[in-house]
Amino acid sequence: MIGFNLTPEQLALREKAGRFAKEIILPVAAKHDRDGTFPLDIMEKAYEQGFLTPLVPKEYGGGGIGILDTCLTSEELAAADMGIYVSIFVSTLALYPIIKFGSEDQKSRFLKPFCQKFTLASYCLSEYHVGSDPASMQTTATLEGDHYLLNGTKMWITNGGVANLYLVFATTDRQKKHKGIVSLILPASFPGIRHGEPIDKMGQRASNTTAVTFKNVRVPKENLLAGEGEGFKKAMVALDITRPMIAIGAVGLARTALELATQYAKQRIQFGVPIANHQAVQFMLADMAIGIDAARLLVWRAASLADQGVRNSKEAAISKAFAADMAMRVTTDAVQIYGGMGYTKWHPVEKLMRDAKVIQIYEGSAQIMRRIIARSLLEQTPS
Ligand SMILES: Cc1cc2nc3c(=O)[nH]c(=O)nc-3n(C[C@H](O)[C@H](O)[C@H](O)COP(=O)(O)OP(=O)(O)OC[C@H]3O[C@@H](n4cnc5c(N)ncnc54)[C@H](O)[C@@H]3O)c2cc1C
Repeated sequence: MIGFNLTPEQLALREKAGRFAKEIILPVAAKHDRDGTFPLDIMEKAYEQGFLTPLVPKEYGGGGIGILDTCLTSEELAAADMGIYVSIFVSTLALYPIIKFGSEDQKSRFLKPFCQKFTLASYCLSEYHVGSDPASMQTTATLEGDHYLLNGTKMWITNGGVANLYLVFATTDRQKKHKGIVSLILPASFPGIRHGEPIDKMGQRASNTTAVTFKNVRVPKENLLAGEGEGFKKAMVALDITRPMIAIGAVGLARTALELATQYAKQRIQFGVPIANHQAVQFMLADMAIGIDAARLLVWRAASLADQGVRNSKEAAISKAFAADMAMRVTTDAVQIYGGMGYTKWHPVEKLMRDAKVIQIYEGSAQIMRRIIARSLLEQTPS
């Protein structure tokens, strides 16, 4: 059975997130974009509303809601500012592997305190030389008695400079490629951790992105998630869940671009009529709406499969690839509809275009999504 009607509980969740987005995020989004500053106060308010821990089961103090329900709130938050949304979202990216694969002891030690006190987390996979091919990572974890010695530098880490908890991927043996990778849970207070200055980015400038260096950091063996050699598989499973959450961010951002472009098209007069009266402009608006609706439905499908416990790697990749490309196209068209005004900092559409670009790059690039989709197609099709 396929249904598109949301329950009263889902509508209430969406409404709560929409109010937060409009009242708390939107008024300061332009300022944080301009200054490239991280809104710690908004993160704390987001924590109070439960937006940092939606997937953490209730028994550990989290929201205990599903992935589709989380996507409903995510669209609203991202509609106000994608950089702030991503900063909220990344804690879920880091916590999800613990929720899914952590031992009872790890859940009690890491999830419970995270829910009890305002805390941020980071997911540390990428490195300077290693992005799309994480199996060739260089950060090492060397087992020495009852602890791992962690050495290396992670790059592009969202919340890198503000997180209290890191989920770090490292190799125990580079020859083993992905089979040598482990994931370790680290409080930021462990000696030997340093982070770089915030990276001066093109877009999503409210998010804090830094390098994080680990030098001889002693990580107790009990902080190893899901056994040796399992780290890579677990990291990838987490991405199947979180890619739809990034894709729905693209939907929220694009929705805002469409709303602004539609308003502007109704006000701007050229050739004696609002430009919205010109069919070429109407068709651009219509194409934007088509893309946004299609992307949202792809996300809902990927998220509801995940909620049912069905493997959704292909559907998650399809939703991420489509939504990211759609957001880039929709925001570019929004700038087009604004004409010269769109190319200035006087109007917010140029920000949306800058914010959209990186969605095609992070959480698996547009090309890597197509690799996953194609591999799945080829595996499923008999020769
Ligand atoms: C703002 C921002 C925030 C980020 N946050 C995080 C974070 O919190 N945690 C984290 O771990 N990482 C994070 N990242 C890193 C991000 O996931 C990587 O940038 C991404 O995986 C791409 O890696 P790369 O930049 O090294 O590009 P590369 O892997 O060097 O790729 C460069 C280009 O080559 C293409 N390419 C590579 N391999 C192939 C192939 N086999 N076939 C076809 N094309 C290919 C890519 O698609 C891309 O277009 C973030 C990045 C940014 C910019």
